[in-house]
Amino acid sequence: MTPALSVLETTFGYDSFRGQQEEIVQHVIAGGDALVLMPTGGGKSLCYQIPALVREGTGVVVSPLIALMQDQVDALSAVGARAAFLNSTQSFEERARVEAAFVAGELDLLYLAPERLKLESTAALLERGTVALFAIDEAHCVAQWGHDFRPDYLTLSMLHERWPNVPRIALTATATEATHREITTRLDLGAARHFVSSFDRPNIQYRIAPKQQPQKQLLDLIRTEHPGDAGIVYCLSRASVEKTAAFLAENGVPALPYHAGLPAEVRAANQSRFLRDDGLVMVATIAFGMGIDKPDVRFVAHLDLPKSVEGYYQETGRAGRDGLPSTAWLAYGLQDVVQQRRMIADNDGDAEHRRKLSQHLDAMLALCETIECRRVQLLKYFGEESTPCGNCDTCLQPVEGWDGTVPAQKLLSTVVRLKRERGQQFGAGHIIDILLGKQTERMSQQGHDALTTFGIGTDLSEAEWRGVVRQLLAQGLLSVSADGYGTLVITEASGQVLSGGREVRLRKEAPRNGSARRASGGSRRSAPVDLPVSATDLFEQLRAWRAGVAREQGVPAYVVFGDATLRGIAVTRPSSLEELSTISGVGEKKLETYGDAVLGVVAG
Ligand code: ADP
Ligand code: ZN
Repeated sequence: MTPALSVLETTFGYDSFRGQQEEIVQHVIAGGDALVLMPTGGGKSLCYQIPALVREGTGVVVSPLIALMQDQVDALSAVGARAAFLNSTQSFEERARVEAAFVAGELDLLYLAPERLKLESTAALLERGTVALFAIDEAHCVAQWGHDFRPDYLTLSMLHERWPNVPRIALTATATEATHREITTRLDLGAARHFVSSFDRPNIQYRIAPKQQPQKQLLDLIRTEHPGDAGIVYCLSRASVEKTAAFLAENGVPALPYHAGLPAEVRAANQSRFLRDDGLVMVATIAFGMGIDKPDVRFVAHLDLPKSVEGYYQETGRAGRDGLPSTAWLAYGLQDVVQQRRMIADNDGDAEHRRKLSQHLDAMLALCETIECRRVQLLKYFGEESTPCGNCDTCLQPVEGWDGTVPAQKLLSTVVRLKRERGQQFGAGHIIDILLGKQTERMSQQGHDALTTFGIGTDLSEAEWRGVVRQLLAQGLLSVSADGYGTLVITEASGQVLSGGREVRLRKEAPRNGSARRASGGSRRSAPVDLPVSATDLFEQLRAWRAGVAREQGVPAYVVFGDATLRGIAVTRPSSLEELSTISGVGEKKLETYGDAVLGVVAG
């Protein structure tokens, strides 16, 4: 048995490496540099933790996430590894203690923030001890045009010059080609081996539902599929974060808000509770999430349309890091398209910037409107070819396409007429009223009941018309003017449709009621993480036991045992320490610390 495999088994309690882990670990143990692109939940941590434990000296981990260092160190201590961190939150004495331990060779892993590593005093400290490797976590932070850019990451290229013989391993879950290139040049990893994994997350079920009453739909999703589960709900604005968190709490779902407008202490406290408590729902803006390595987030819900596929994939990727079944659910409707198109039109940046924003939005909209497998489309966006997955809404409930050319012509010609005849502009609601021939007050006031298109669209329902408007907007065949009123206007491409030179393919709208529930498994209360019914009671008892232990020790529940391990225990019902030790996630140290207590819970 190799030393790496032995550490995997005895320290971490896992019986085999996943994906490219073994190759990466061997490469770094042998002293090679590596650049690792692996999706969230792929198991990046072991790629540097095991080499750090096997090689002589201390593995130095550079991470921008100071708030999470304590949890990372706790998780390592729980498996018996000697880990510590140095950052600005510590007292002078604490820092001195950690430094002394490092110099004495008593640490397997040392976590540092990049701004600290930059200091000459830190470099001098590192020279007094033995560095086994440098791990650069969240390596995409070096990408200057990326969303998480940290200037201090730019100085990390000096590691190579100062410690030419110490292997470096840079890791990220950001998949785009551009980021990959930038990391390579900025960290001088041209000669390193690059390990690029598939970015598929097969355990995540991707679903995009028509937005009707989003809060109610969300509550429904939680009650029917994820009662008692931890989850993240993303909203666009601070106000909707607050409202949604309050709504969930009123309805008996423990939920906390998180956005940049909250005082730093409140944010830190809410984040810490989310990591520590079982079954909390975090309602947040996109400010929340980077580096959150809580493995048992069972669902990520979006109540507003994300601005790009990259953002969406990164946010949904926070579900199911432990590999157990999880849900990514997005509610999407006409207003989302109108709002985002308007925001882009109003953007202060130059034309080039607005064009980029539009491209991002178009890719996101294409994902929402596709009648093909969502996952195939997502992976294609990241340059990966695949076949229909069987675990997304369009695979589970195939959607029909239809020829929407004639309705599109009716709608577009109404938009054209309104503009020409009155010099005035109107939003989607009014245009649909015209097509349906509704005699509203506004209609006669404006004389729109005299239009030739008045009442020519009664073959479709109002919901179907809204679907047509949304999809034309999504396809760029209709646009929103920059006047701030959500006014619909035609585009250059609309002309081809009006002249009959272009066919319009549309996705059939799901019936207004019921379908979302059916797609989500109806009223079936799915067992936690899809357990056999016979094991659910024991699983819940183990969860309650774990919550108590975690609270007592002041660590997140997953530091004690992950859901996957509790599931394994609940299913196999071990009756001896020996049997318990064979379960994935139970290493030597945890067996010693918790073994008897766990057997006690199993015995009842
Ligand atoms: P990443 O950093 O890539 O998002 P992590 O390193 O946090 O992923 O790993 C995700 C989860 O998978 C963790 O709970 C981890 O313990 C588990 N894991 C990683 N590698 C293995 C393995 N070889 N066998 C079993 N579980 C693993
Ligand atoms: Zn699919």
